[in-house]
Amino acid sequence: MHPDVKSLLTVQQDDLQIYALEARLESLAPRLAALEQERSRAADAIERARRAVEAEEARHREARTRIETHRQLAERSQRQYESVTTPREATAALAQLEQTKRMVTESERDAESIHGRVAQLREQVTSLQAELERIEQEQREARGSLDADRAVIESELASVQAARAEHARAVPRGMLGTYDRVRRRKRAEAVFPLRGPSCGACDTAVPTQRRAAMATSGALEMCEGCGALLYAAE
Ligand SMILES: [Zn+2]
Repeated sequence: MHPDVKSLLTVQQDDLQIYALEARLESLAPRLAALEQERSRAADAIERARRAVEAEEARHREARTRIETHRQLAERSQRQYESVTTPREATAALAQLEQTKRMVTESERDAESIHGRVAQLREQVTSLQAELERIEQEQREARGSLDADRAVIESELASVQAARAEHARAVPRGMLGTYDRVRRRKRAEAVFPLRGPSCGACDTAVPTQRRAAMATSGALEMCEGCGALLYAAE
């Protein structure tokens, strides 16, 4: 193998490592987004429960006002009943009194049941807050480990990039430029050996004449089938 090609293959090894490290860095983003989504789901649930508490509290205030109104009605009916002068009036006033007393009882029952719901919803808010705290605690560890992963990958990346720059100096400028163009397009392995008379990546046959030139000069040839750069391995 021509020494220039050998140097280029070393650079390619570095580039493949760089791509792998970059892919690992990119894979951290969705993990972070998933954490954020989990946290905001829990926070949203608290917000909804709080709004429900407020709505029920407003209903409770209305219910208490209704009790007050119904009690006043009942008191007035009571006074009317006490001031009747005929048996006929007494019957009507008693019916009225009983009805207003029923209204008081019903509105009291109503207020009590709303009060129960408020208590229930407040408990729900408390338990959702505990859940959010649990998630945040858990995430502190997960986020810490994500940050640690990122730091490790970034430092590895920096050292491979430095090695790549060093190795690239051994490759002739023209060859490196051609390789870089193909590599940027593929973001994967770009240089392959001939396998017999064919491209090592896609098996497209390479004309004899070109193969002979590659063997003597160490030059790279682009595969007409897949665009890979080919070199003579022997
Ligand atoms: Zn090919």
